[in-house]
Amino acid sequence: MNSRLDKHHLLLSLVVPVFNEQETIDFFIEKISSVFSQEEQLTVEMIFINDGSTDETLERLIKRQQTDQRIKIVDLSRNFGKEAALTAGLDIASGEVVVPIDVDLQDPPELILEMIQLWREGYEVVLGKRVNRSSDHWLKRVTASWFYRIHNKIASPKLPVNVGDFRLMDRCVVDAIKKLPESHRFMKGLFAWVGFKTACVDYVRPERIAGSTKFNGWKLWNFAIEGLTSFSTAPMRTWIYIGFLVAFPSFIFSIFILFRVLIFGIDVPGYASIMVAVTFLGGLQLIGIGVLGEYLGRTYMESKRRPIFLIRQIY
Ligand code: UDP
Ligand code: MG
Repeated sequence: MNSRLDKHHLLLSLVVPVFNEQETIDFFIEKISSVFSQEEQLTVEMIFINDGSTDETLERLIKRQQTDQRIKIVDLSRNFGKEAALTAGLDIASGEVVVPIDVDLQDPPELILEMIQLWREGYEVVLGKRVNRSSDHWLKRVTASWFYRIHNKIASPKLPVNVGDFRLMDRCVVDAIKKLPESHRFMKGLFAWVGFKTACVDYVRPERIAGSTKFNGWKLWNFAIEGLTSFSTAPMRTWIYIGFLVAFPSFIFSIFILFRVLIFGIDVPGYASIMVAVTFLGGLQLIGIGVLGEYLGRTYMESKRRPIFLIRQIY
């Protein structure tokens, strides 16, 4: 018999990274209160990670905390990014089940009740899966779908498609993630990497309740590169094949030229073909060096062993 079924009391930790979210915090806390007010065998703790906000976010959180014991605040020393903030939150979370969730109510808290139901049935991870992305800009939808396609072709383990950070994790999963030492933290990838018994609940992703998105196109592009290079060396390996592909015809061609010179004598015109070869190969080499540089850079940053985030204070 599954011991989770007759579990009397359950501590649920919500891990909520916040970066300039003064408009959304109150909505979020109200919503959590209303969703969980009926759940008597459930205690909720909300861990807000203030990721270097420059607005009133921290002040508002502190004010709310005075009347609400469920709130914990981790104030980071600057903006470390959502992945680092999530890492900080998972470190502090003490719940038996942990749910990373966005503060803008794009991850509907009602869904957590369904997730807990599946957890009680024995699943260790319950993913929130976006069934449609109509609240996203078309460009984001297209690029996201390409990202998943490419990532899942070349990287392992595969990322579940259209699943963000919103998911329920059992304590054993969180402990496993905390053991991963890398400082480049592509959380979606790490979550997938640890595995465990996984179920899914579908939801339609609503629009942001207030405020504006913190991820613009350039940040998402870098995020995608981060994801690909964190979990695959295929972009680097590709260069071996591109190298062969270019070198082999070149070799044949050079033999051909050599024989032509030996048989027909020296033939001066050839400027165009030389220029094409030089510039094309030069370009290819630069791209190749760029890819190598990306990995070398990552190795370099990783080798510094700097902490992933710094905490100013915990409230
Ligand atoms: N966030 C963060 N640090 C950052 C950027 C975002 O902690 O550097 C938080 C943000 O406050 C929100 C969550 O990550 O709670 C998701 O951000 P957002 O809603 O802007 O992303 P989107 O939903 O547009 O992908
Ligand atoms: Mg959002």
